[in-house]
Amino acid sequence: MNLKILEFRKRNPLSAKGKFYVDGQCQDCDVCRELAPSVFTRCDSEGISYIAKQPVTKEEFQMVEEVVEMCSEQAIRSDGLKLDWDAHPPFKRYEEMSPSEKDEYNALGRKN
Ligand code: SF4
Repeated sequence: MNLKILEFRKRNPLSAKGKFYVDGQCQDCDVCRELAPSVFTRCDSEGISYIAKQPVTKEEFQMVEEVVEMCSEQAIRSDGLKLDWDAHPPFKRYEEMSPSEKDEYNALGRKN
């Protein structure tokens, strides 16, 4: 499994399927949630943002495209329509992972 897929799998399980997603690089800076609150929300238990609702209106798309550029971690990805959301389900919570899943997860350089 390549790094891109591993990062994709680090999305929050509640992420709305679609073009955009927040991958495992998120550092919880709050910029996306401040600028596009109708799209982004916070997972308090994991301390990361995720896309609760894909953008629908022209204004939402414009705002998300801007936030993609502003995210200092480049954690907001726009290639979600090219990825198979069902074939690559999100990781479980770290505490619930099997040893091999933890190895995969840790390969990204961030434990949790
Ligand atoms: S702007 Fe990027 S790093 Fe900051 S909370 Fe949003 S996704 Fe995470």
